[in-house]
Amino acid sequence: IKPSELVSASLERISATDEKVRAYLSVHGEVAMERAKQLDEIPADAGLLYGIPGAIKDNLNTKGLPTTCGSKILETYTSAYDATVVSKLNDAGVVSVGKTNMDEFAMGSTGENSGFFPTHNPWDLSRVPGGSSSGSAATVAAGQVLFSLGSDTGGSIRQPASFCGVVGLKPTYGLVSRFGLVAYASSFDQIGPFTQTVEDNAIVLQAIAGHDPLDSTSANLSVPDYLAALTGDIKGLRIGLPKEYFGEGMDAGVREQIEKAIQTLESLGAVVGEVTLPHTKYAVATYYLLAPAEASSNLARFDGVRYGLRVEGENLIDMYKRTRSEGFGEEVQTRIMLGTYALSSGYYDAYYLRAQKVRTLIKQDFDAVFENYDVILSPTAPTPAFALGSNVGDPVTMYLNDIYTIPVNLAGVPAISVPCGLTNGLPVGVQFIGKHFDESTLLRVAHAFE
Ligand code: GLN
Repeated sequence: IKPSELVSASLERISATDEKVRAYLSVHGEVAMERAKQLDEIPADAGLLYGIPGAIKDNLNTKGLPTTCGSKILETYTSAYDATVVSKLNDAGVVSVGKTNMDEFAMGSTGENSGFFPTHNPWDLSRVPGGSSSGSAATVAAGQVLFSLGSDTGGSIRQPASFCGVVGLKPTYGLVSRFGLVAYASSFDQIGPFTQTVEDNAIVLQAIAGHDPLDSTSANLSVPDYLAALTGDIKGLRIGLPKEYFGEGMDAGVREQIEKAIQTLESLGAVVGEVTLPHTKYAVATYYLLAPAEASSNLARFDGVRYGLRVEGENLIDMYKRTRSEGFGEEVQTRIMLGTYALSSGYYDAYYLRAQKVRTLIKQDFDAVFENYDVILSPTAPTPAFALGSNVGDPVTMYLNDIYTIPVNLAGVPAISVPCGLTNGLPVGVQFIGKHFDESTLLRVAHAFE
């Protein structure tokens, strides 16, 4: 099969299904077909991603194409350069077909904070796909592309992967370059792949991982061979079940599928034990101080001068105010205010500094468990996909939905969500959390399990 045939099949599938799913903010059919045709002469050394159609979350810069971050403030913005992950995929022969819908600036867990329209869950169009990488999860679940990229600051790859029944990986902080990712909360953000299988996920991770001098937080380590890690053997692997994660708040149907997953892993030879992550109860509060604090600083650059929208005003300050009030949606404005408050003098010590200290305690919880265990297992989300509209206007309930994913970003460790069954016809995801830079073990256990 030629790249042009594959890409044309992908584009046809998008035209046939995306009116309902709405995974895309922009589809670049012509650009994609042109590139695919150029790739039709397949070289002898073509790699595994050569000619493969993929999709990119709309907060990753793609030269000459729009990058809106799901926000009205960037509705007219066109990228001036490629993100490092995008250039790496280009070099590998990937054909990007479009930019996927997302919660505005990656703030949200349902996709309903998109400044344009919500994406629908392909399993049940009346339900949310999860977020913030809503379109990236939905497009893979709908069979429109073979993989996509998302970003994960507090769960935005893993939670939508779980809601849409696909595999989603958040790498260790520092494994994948963030250069060209529009920052939400820089000390949490990581880019990672959505795929149908763990093997595909390993292939995409291999292509995007590695040191990048353009991102000072990117780790200077050699990247292991992730496909070689998929041995199918997890005999003796030690899996910890955090008791704090298995308390109240977990949907009964989710619990049932997770318990089955644990039995399957035991039957494969894994050794399961209860562990404790004692500071879990502070994770959501800590995240919702630190992430908005970083966001308030990162989003200061959208001032009506440098990028996208400008709403004229009576003077400079008035122009800033009008541009930002019209350009940013409600959730983004809420978080900028929260973050500015937490960073302001007089409150900094009480909120921001204290939250940083708690972040360290949460990281130490993980370090302690990993002295005796190889991975930690939990559900990815407490519930399956819920109905569109059902949680709008209730941000705190929404924030609590991230309880199993947020601690992972606070600690900077990697985690993967893998489909583990259905409840009432909706997918459930199991999450495996690993040691820093030990994606190999995560992929191995996920692959043996799936
Ligand atoms: N749902 C979380 C938030 O709203 C996480 C989002 C993300 O990972 N980008 O911040």
